Amino acid sequence: MNDKKMNCQNLWIPKSIFDAMVEEAEKKKPLETGGAFMGYVADNHDVIITDMIDAGVNAIHKKISFTPDQEYQLKEMEDIYYNSEGMTNYLGDWHTHPNGTTNLSLKDKKTLTRIGITPESQNSYPIMVILASQPSEWTMSAVQFVSGYICLRAFVVCKYKQLLHTFY
Ligand SMILES: [Zn+2]
Repeated sequence: MNDKKMNCQNLWIPKSIFDAMVEEAEKKKPLETGGAFMGYVADNHDVIITDMIDAGVNAIHKKISFTPDQEYQLKEMEDIYYNSEGMTNYLGDWHTHPNGTTNLSLKDKKTLTRIGITPESQNSYPIMVILASQPSEWTMSAVQFVSGYICLRAFVVCKYKQLLHTFY
């Protein structure tokens, strides 16, 4: 078993960011919403979130899908990256399931895989955080991409692992 280190892996998220996520989730429900995370990976492989970028005004919020304002988010990411002198990088994204559980949908697996295998995202191990209304509002779950591929835009193999999370 080589899972011991993986099982100990923690996602550190500022309580203020979590509170902002819940506030946004409440504001947009029953539609989905979300955002992007910036931060860094510690020497012990823990993932440390330091900044959150909101969905942006041109984001598309629907009942079972959410598309962020990518142009806006990329600009924000660049600013944060340069202001931190390259220490703060893109970590991944979060979104809500206002009518469901934290389980990844097929589309979520495709999105996560696409980020993980696309060199331009500069993140081979993106995280995905889901805030769900079930079993209780708002339940948070975090996963990290391990490996995967997409065939013919339809079929996806996505291996990911669960991360523990701690508020700081
Ligand atoms: Zn989803």
